[in-house]
Amino acid sequence: MTQESDWGSVYVRILDAGAFFAQDVVGLLLGDKPVAYNDATREQLAFLSAWAQQLGLAVVNLGKIRNQDQPDGTPRYGVLIAKDRGALARAAARWRGPYLTGPAIGRLLGYPDCCAAAFGRFQKRQEKDPGADMIDAIAAASGPGPYPFLLNNVLVFNSKRCAAGREDREKLADLNRDQSFALKLPALISWHPCSYQCRPSLRAARRIWAYVQRYSPDAAARLRRRLSAPVLFLSWSKFAAFRGRVARGRLKYSQVVAPHSLLDAEILELIRAGDELRIEAPGVWVSRGGKKRWVLKEDRARLLGFTSRLSV
Ligand SMILES: [Zn+2]
Repeated sequence: MTQESDWGSVYVRILDAGAFFAQDVVGLLLGDKPVAYNDATREQLAFLSAWAQQLGLAVVNLGKIRNQDQPDGTPRYGVLIAKDRGALARAAARWRGPYLTGPAIGRLLGYPDCCAAAFGRFQKRQEKDPGADMIDAIAAASGPGPYPFLLNNVLVFNSKRCAAGREDREKLADLNRDQSFALKLPALISWHPCSYQCRPSLRAARRIWAYVQRYSPDAAARLRRRLSAPVLFLSWSKFAAFRGRVARGRLKYSQVVAPHSLLDAEILELIRAGDELRIEAPGVWVSRGGKKRWVLKEDRARLLGFTSRLSV
């Protein structure tokens, strides 16, 4: 088994492999998370089992996931990982047992209670409004910002029951795959916070952040840069991130930056030609040099004022 002093090098290898949500592994190692869930192809499973063994973690294969096959037909398997074998066996029994609600899964995986409950409320709302997005619900609970980069979850779309499905998710992942290291999800926490000011989530994200900084300062710098960009959010697959700042309900910007989305090219062109966005009926106003130039009729648009700050 690898000693605690060697965790860093194993973590960096997981990060480089890009097949798993490395930040969840940090949660397991720090003792913040009792159990982590992931999905993997058979090939990835072999890799996962090898590094889990090195870290003294145990793995349970929950079997093939229905409707989650890769575009080329490769099956994917659900996997639970934990440090404590007893906790892992109990979690696997619950997972295989009667249907678990969203909040029950959240608690099982060690997410903050406030966030697990908020996700449950969102799922109920989504039953009536299939177009609702979790980010919209989080932003509504967050106030105007600014928001610490630590809780930026714009790219955590795996659990959003995306209407457009797997193909668009793969396209988004490809668009945002870093050239130098392939982070599966560029985010610090793997759950949806109840708000961008949620204290338990911020506490957990800060601990993960400190770990990433310690063992992979380059990855940390890239993550911070990417997560600090304010976002115009239209939907899980259509958004734009900026070099700029949100203040008093306006986004002043100089450039559109990563992460990238499937936003229509014409809309992106209009946004690129401006330097300020404001949300005001009937949609998103794009201004240039202080003059309103165009309006994008989007009734669900939000400005998310992420910054490089570590606290609210
Ligand atoms: Zn919370």
